[in-house]
Amino acid sequence: MKILLVDDSRAIAMITTARLESFGHEVRHAINGPTAIDLFQKEDFDLILMDIEMPGMNGFETTTRIRSLEGHEQWAWTPIIFVTATDSDDNLVTAIEAGGDDFISKGVAESVLQAKMKAMSRIATLRARLAQANNRLQDQANHDGLTGLYNRRAMDLRVDLLWESAVQNGYAFGLLMIDVDNFKKYNDHYGHLAGDDCLCRVAACLEETAERINAEAWASGVFAARYGGEEFCVILPEAGPEVHERAGKLMVEAVAALKLPHEQNAGGYVTISAGAIRVMPAEGWVKEAFRLADELLYQAKSGGRNRCVAN
Ligand code: GH3
Ligand code: MG
Ligand code: MG
Ligand code: MG
Repeated sequence: MKILLVDDSRAIAMITTARLESFGHEVRHAINGPTAIDLFQKEDFDLILMDIEMPGMNGFETTTRIRSLEGHEQWAWTPIIFVTATDSDDNLVTAIEAGGDDFISKGVAESVLQAKMKAMSRIATLRARLAQANNRLQDQANHDGLTGLYNRRAMDLRVDLLWESAVQNGYAFGLLMIDVDNFKKYNDHYGHLAGDDCLCRVAACLEETAERINAEAWASGVFAARYGGEEFCVILPEAGPEVHERAGKLMVEAVAALKLPHEQNAGGYVTISAGAIRVMPAEGWVKEAFRLADELLYQAKSGGRNRCVAN
């Protein structure tokens, strides 16, 4: 484990460090509360051993502050064990109230210290696994299972934030609504599994094109999402003049350039149509923006498909 040892006595810290290192742990020493908080914010620790009596900020206050820092992170919980000279009942109650997890006295026997460290190592392993599982779940909740793009839910959440920020900062907001052309016929002709593959190829192409736009820097923060079925969105959070039109055209061309065979579509390859809007956002108006983009998409379809219509 990586342990943060907080103690105002260098002599005690040296002895404790030697003991913990002999059990195979890595120890960082903080000489007072503020230094401990600083180290805690810079590095990851599996355990904190906290002295109670320290001049200035004592161990209880240091713990309360560390816990309030952790409160912002969903799964954060670093075990804190208080180490004290007097193991009074009052101290124990205050220690737990402050956010501590356990309590040992300074003269604790070697075997007890080792046993406690073993128990804490188990907790550290579980915490790491929990954090990993949580990251995986978070990822699954935000991404579409087939294409790996952001799903509708994640897109809506991001769009709400970006829209609000655009309202506040006076940026224009760009949005592309994209739909694969004659996709029902694709499924009917090549089968549903091939249809799934095709959607993945189109999704990857849209994402790559969004990344290219970001890299070429004529727009930033551009991302693609699966809106549902064979429909996708590309979000242009800060869209300069004509950026939406340029991006829409680029997406349409990029998918056509894949030359994915589609016998039942004009030209013989898979194509998409897009409706592109650029609007000055107003509070509570985001749904209307999607409706507008959908309307332009419809115009692109009735105008012959494989094209982008922009406002
Ligand atoms: P248009 O050019 O007017 O858009 O015609 P279209 O055939 O693409 O439009 P329509 O909305 O009639 O058909 C969409 C098709 O997309 C129907 C549906 O079966 C198919 N689809 C939706 N989601 C998926 C999916 O996840 N996988 C596959 N393979 N097909 C899907
Ligand atoms: Mg002390
Ligand atoms: Mg459709
Ligand atoms: Mg379609």
